[in-house]
Order: sequence, then C-alpha cells, then structure tokens
Amino acid sequence: MSKFIYAFEEGQQSMKDLLGGKGANLSEMMRLGLPVPNGFTITTEACIQYLQNGGLSDEVKAELEEQLQALYKKTGKEFSADSLLLVSVRSGAKISMPGMMDTILNLGLNDENVEKLANNTNDARFAYDCYRRLLQMFGQVVYEIPMHAFESYFNDFKKQKGYVSDADIPAEDLQQICERFKEVYMEEVYKPFPQEPLEQLNEAIEAVFKSWNNDRARIYRELNEIPHDIGTAVNVQEMVFGNSGEKSGTGVAFTRNPSTGENKLYGEYLLNAQGEDVVAGIRTPKEIETLNTQMPAVYQAFVDVTHKLEEHYHDMQDIEFTIEDEKLFILQTRNGKRTAKAAMKIAVDMVEEGVLSKEEAISKVESKSIDQLLHPAFDAKALEEAEVISHIGLPASPGAATGQVVFSAAEAKAQAEAGEKVILVRPETSPEDIEGMIASEAIVTTHGGMTSHAAVVARGMGKCCVTGCSDLDIDTKNKTVKFPGGELAEGDIISVDGSTGHIYHGEVQTTNAEHSAEFEQFMTWTDEVARLKVRMNAETEQDIAAGYEFAAVGIGLVRTEHMFFGEERLIQMRRFIIASNHEERVAALDELKKYQAGDFEKIFRLSGERPTIVRLLDPPLHEFVPREREEVEAVAGQLGLSVEKLERRILELQEVNPMLGHRGCRLAITYPELYEMQVEAMMTSVQKLKDEGINCQPEIMIPLVSTMKEFTNLKAVIERKISELNITVDYKIGTMIETPRACLIAGDLAQECDFFSFGTNDLTQLTYGFSRDDAGKFINDYMNDDILAIDPFQTLDVDGIGRLIKIAVEQAKSVKPEIKIGVCGELGGDPKSIKYFNTLAIDYVSCSPYRVPGARLAAAQSK
Ligand code: ADP
Ligand code: MG
Ligand code: MG
Repeated sequence: MSKFIYAFEEGQQSMKDLLGGKGANLSEMMRLGLPVPNGFTITTEACIQYLQNGGLSDEVKAELEEQLQALYKKTGKEFSADSLLLVSVRSGAKISMPGMMDTILNLGLNDENVEKLANNTNDARFAYDCYRRLLQMFGQVVYEIPMHAFESYFNDFKKQKGYVSDADIPAEDLQQICERFKEVYMEEVYKPFPQEPLEQLNEAIEAVFKSWNNDRARIYRELNEIPHDIGTAVNVQEMVFGNSGEKSGTGVAFTRNPSTGENKLYGEYLLNAQGEDVVAGIRTPKEIETLNTQMPAVYQAFVDVTHKLEEHYHDMQDIEFTIEDEKLFILQTRNGKRTAKAAMKIAVDMVEEGVLSKEEAISKVESKSIDQLLHPAFDAKALEEAEVISHIGLPASPGAATGQVVFSAAEAKAQAEAGEKVILVRPETSPEDIEGMIASEAIVTTHGGMTSHAAVVARGMGKCCVTGCSDLDIDTKNKTVKFPGGELAEGDIISVDGSTGHIYHGEVQTTNAEHSAEFEQFMTWTDEVARLKVRMNAETEQDIAAGYEFAAVGIGLVRTEHMFFGEERLIQMRRFIIASNHEERVAALDELKKYQAGDFEKIFRLSGERPTIVRLLDPPLHEFVPREREEVEAVAGQLGLSVEKLERRILELQEVNPMLGHRGCRLAITYPELYEMQVEAMMTSVQKLKDEGINCQPEIMIPLVSTMKEFTNLKAVIERKISELNITVDYKIGTMIETPRACLIAGDLAQECDFFSFGTNDLTQLTYGFSRDDAGKFINDYMNDDILAIDPFQTLDVDGIGRLIKIAVEQAKSVKPEIKIGVCGELGGDPKSIKYFNTLAIDYVSCSPYRVPGARLAAAQSK
C-alpha cells in the first residue's frame, strides 16, 4: 500500500521525487536538527492521482486526518476555537519552480478566531494583518480572484490614509480591509470565504494540485524542459510569524553571491513582515548584514545555519527564514539559482576549498548557461559618454541589452513578435509577466531587490535584469517613465547594464566578453575529463580567432561557398556557370583560384598545425545566379550576353527540390574542374605555409556522398590534381556522411576514406524527409500533439538518426579502427546530442565558435 503523506520527520533529502524539493529539504533540515516548524508533505503521487481522478481519494483523506491529529499533538494546537493552529499550505515540485506555484499563509483563521488571536497576542494589528493576507492569498490561489481586485483597494486605502508601509496600518483599518476583502469574494465568485479551517485546508490542497496545470506553470516547465507529468507535492506547516512586531521579520539569503559567486553571505530581510513581502518587492528590504546590528544573536544563529547547510549540501544554498520574537526558523533551503559567472566561480572555489572534486564541479555548471559568459558587454568608452538614466538599480542578472521601452508583459510579447527588441520596465514583476519577460531583452524594475521575482526569474533565464531603480517613476497608464533628468515614453531606446545596474539613454556600443581566471581554470578541467574533442565550424577570420580563443582543437568544417561570393568573384562564378565548354569554365575558375588561394592561406595560417577540414563546394549553382529582372539585365551586360541567353541558363538551373538536386559531390561529377580548382587553391596555400615552416593538417571533405563511386571517382580527380602540383604536404581525404545511404554503406566507404564527418542537418532532413526550410510550418504542431518530443534539427533523434549514426560508426571503425570520425552541423553543439555522441566511437564534435565552450563542458559532463 502506498503512503501518501509523510510527516517532516519521516522524510529525507533523497525522497525528492515523492516529496518535491521543498518537502524533501524541510525533512532533511529537520533531521539536521535545524529549527523547522512542524508539518507534513502530501506526495507528488497524491497529486498525480488527484489530477487523474479529479478529487482526493479516500486513502489520502484518511491519512490527512491522521497526520493532522499528529500535528495537533506535536504543536499542542488544533483547528478549533480554543487553540489556534494556523498553517501554511505550500506547493513544491521535484524541480524548483520559483514563483510558479502558489502558497497560502495563515490558513485556519476566520471571523471568530481572528479576535481570539488578537486577544491572545494582545496585538489586534497583527491578527488582522494575518487575516487580510489569508483572505487575499486564499482568494487568489483557490478561487482565482485576480490580484488587483484586492490590491487596488488595499493600495488606494493606504494612499488615502497616508500610510507608507503596510506595517503602518492600524488594527481598525486592517479590520475594515478584511471586511471589504470578504465582499470581494461575493462580487467575484458569488460565494463567501469558507470559515471552517478544515474546509479551507481541503480546498487549498486541491487548489495547489490544480495549479500544477495552470498556464504559468506549463510555460515555465516548457522553458526549462521539466516534464509535465511529475506533479507537485503539498507541504502543510505550522505558521511562525514574521509580522508579529519589530522583533520579528522574514528574509531570504544566498550562502554566496548568486550574481558574482563571491563567497559572502548575501541576502535581504524585512522586519515585521510575512511571507513573500521580501520577494514581492513591495517594500525595499535591508541587507542581511544589518541584522547583525538589529539582532546580533539571531544573525549569528542564522550564519551558523548557512554554514551547516552549505557543508551538508555541497552547494550554494538559497535559504528562506522567518524570525518570530527573536527566534529563528528556517522555512526552505535549495541549491541557489545563479548566473553562469557565479556558477563558474562557485564551482572553482569549492574545488579549491576541497568541498567538491573536479568532476563534481563540472557536473554543477549547466552547459547551456555558459552562453551567458560569452555575451558581449558594453564598451567602456561608449559607456562614459552615454547619458545615464538611473545608476542606483541593483545588478540582478548580468548582460548588456538595448531595446525599446515597454510597460507591460503583453506589449513586450506583441512587440517582440513584431520583430522589435524590447526592454520591459515595470514597478515589479509577478508570475503573470513570464511570457513578457521571455520576450524581452532585459527587465528593469523600480521596486524589489536581488531576490525579487524579476531578479530570480531573469537569472534563471540568463536574461539581463536590473531591479530597484527607485529613482524611476513609472506611469503605466500614460506609458511614461520619469527619471531624474527627464522622461521616457513607450518605444524610446534604452540600454541596460545588468552587471552594474546602470541604465542608459539610447543605444550603447558593445564589445566581446572577457574571460575570468575561473572560467579558464574551469574549462581546463573540462578538457582533462572529456573524451570527445571539440572543433569549430568556421571560415571567417573573426570566427576562427574566436573559436581558437575558446580552445577548439581544430576546424571541423570550413564551408567554401562564401569564397564564391563578393562582386568580382561572383562575376567569375557566373562566367563559369554560363560557360558552354570546358575551356571557358577553366578560364573562369582560374580567376577564382587567385582569390581563393588567398582565402585558404588566411584560414590555414590561423589554424596553424591544427587539423582543418575544408568542405568542397556544396550548394546548387542556382544560388549564384541573379533573381530579379533588373539584376539579370545588369549581369547580362557584365558578361557580354543577351538577357535571353542568361535567362535561359537560369531557367535550366531551376530545380523543384533544390536540396535534393544538383549539389554537393554531384556538381563535381558533372564539373570536376570545380573541385580541382578548389583543391589547387587550397593545397598550394598549404604548401606555401609548409615552406615557411608551418605544418598544416589539411583534410579535404567531399559532401553529400551516397555511393562508393561518387567518392572514389572524385578522390581520383583530387589525387591526380595534387600529384600534378608537386605538393609535399600530407593531407587526408574523407567524406561528409549526410545521406541515409552513406550511413548504411559506411563500412565500404571507410575503406576509401581517411575520415568521416556526420552532417547532421542534411542527415536529419533526408532521414525524416522533412525539408529544413519548410519544417518550421508544422514542427510546432508535431510537438504540441506529442508526435515529436523534440525538434530533431535541434536535438538528435536518438531512435532514428542516432541509430543510423551508430550503424555507420560501428561499421567504419570495424573495418578501419584508425578512421577519424566527427560530427558537424547544429547537433555538434547541442549538449543532449553530445551526450549520445559520446557513447559512440566518435572522436570529436564540431560547432559554431560560440558554442565551443558549452560543447566542451557537455563533453566533460557526458562521462
Ligand atoms: P515559494 O515556493 O514561492 O518560495 P513558499 O512555500 O516557500 O513559496 O512560501 C513563500 C514564503 O511564505 C516563504 O518564504 C515564507 O516566508 C512564507 N512561509 C511559508 N510557510 C510558512 C510558515 N509555516 N510560517 C511562516 N512563513 C511561511
Ligand atoms: Mg511564491
Ligand atoms: Mg520559498
């Protein structure tokens, strides 16, 4: 028989699947002897069962009754008029989803016992503050009453009476607010607030279960690739009160700085406050160190807890705490979300502190988060000259972003869909804004601190964010924002520096990122651990330099098509295309060769003695001819041809299915002189470098092979050409494996090839029969209908394409163990795909330069 509810003392850290992250960690902290209020966790299995049946089962109800009785015993309090038990009802899935699910505090209060609470504590203000919060949260979570139905009244009331902070509102006024909130229930949902504590509890539990499927939660899960079917647990926990006066408070702290990684306690708190006051950004909180002067003993106790937790979990912790009458309670701990920069520093520091091994440290940094580190930053000089709009904001999530000001999430989404770059400027954000945040380049808020919703979510997304710009005055109605020196309207351009918290007027120039010593150290470790090597796909000088900067071990793909573009070259290429005989073609190619030799020399000089794969021309010829009538006329003039003749040739080149047409090696079967020219340009350059003492490693790759003869014929052409040239450089000849047939005859091909490189883009296209250029029209439908779990152009389809690759690799290595096998194309840089490639006898992956560090890490994590 399964058990659906666990008291905190019955659970432990390892039970995350069942108890969710929050519940498992509450249990674990209780086992560690930390001050955690009593409670129990209703399991994710109960949630899944609830969502299937549409109600709580009898078993769950019976266990709930049992656990409540036990909680009564432990706390000495009950859901009765005499002894007030108040609880929180908190959701918590296996994977933390900040701000996504909902929490209800002070559950158990009603019209009657709120007065009792007032009398018992001798503090009517406190009692009614708890009650109005319950009314508000319960209404929102359980009855889905919109937040503003409560907030607008609450805020207007405060304004009217001149109260600055919530804590200023006296008891009578809070009581009046409660009365009004109860009316809101009748107006919005036509039913009263349930007075019976048990009824409140049951409804709250069901609401949390249901909230698993709300839009915000689904979007967050999709964004973070969290499965939809794991469900959430519910934690029911005795309340402790941070809002019971100036000796109480609530706060959030990270054991290290989540933005920079600095090993220093980092947090915020508010006195006389409850629950999410700190995170919601309604009042701007105090820094955690200040607590040392306000309540030194509590501060010390808290610091001790933070050390204990970090030592126990071997990771930076994000801790929620509450102080009730100078007594500390810990309400949550989890591995803290952090920027890539912080992740890197923390990982390196923890290895140096002896807390983590290198392998453990490597496993703790997400490979996709490395992208963040490679983001450009604002140019220092340009910054000095830029007009500052605000410089008091907090650097909540690093990055450098420029875009148009928008004031609502809906507008952000709409503008982004229209192709604009936008910056979302809000007083604060809430979970409803999530889609708008995704659509924005950066987020700026005027309220809230480093742990506000905006900050936490932005860091999770790797998105630039600045919070707490309290010198900005936003008027969301008229869509303007006043800053000390002027005013901005919707659509005005601003630049946001997430590393300093500064906001600038207009667009500021950016420069490429510099790497910290930690980054270099960390990346060196990944290379020690990884088996798969990482090369880059690059052909421009800038990209090649970047890829080597990121420690690629060579070039896995030089695409030579660009060597045919550029005004002068295009003329020669077009002469080649319209030529009517071999001699004319060779004459045109001879001109092209002059340019290309120079290109190859640059590429090989940068690559030096590292292996470099050059792919011979791949695209169909029609990509080089003009399209528009005007252009056709001009080109005809250039080539000394009649327009009609050129048009006829263009028509001949047209194909119904260009991707399946006259391209790749097929071009060279018809026009071997094309590849001869490329090989000559390349090998003479390499020879020149050899004469200078640089021993390049050229690897010549023939694309789109699907039969043996295609390869052997062209190989013969190339070898003949090279032998004519008196080249003394060693070289390799291989093929790109990108047709299903090539995979199936890989054993034969391997006998003739020095190397293989899987071209996953074409291989995916040809195996599925999905046109890469048209699949966008239906891939999303396929994913929504669960026909495809992933887009196979972005992540390897292990079952199909993966199997083909496996067959090919096994065949090839069995006939020629020394054959070098790589993967180029998009999937070569995708962490999940890399994990699979690592299981095969593949030697390296190759990806665009900026994906190289992420790929190196993914390779190290694949062990
Ligand atoms: P989230 O998942 O959004 O962090 P939590 O369940 O942690 O939601 O609840 C939010 C906040 O509510 C907590 O940080 C804490 O301040 C407050 N809270 C939750 N349970 C209790 C409790 N039993 N006593 C006092 N405060 C609580
Ligand atoms: Mg929350
Ligand atoms: Mg929490």
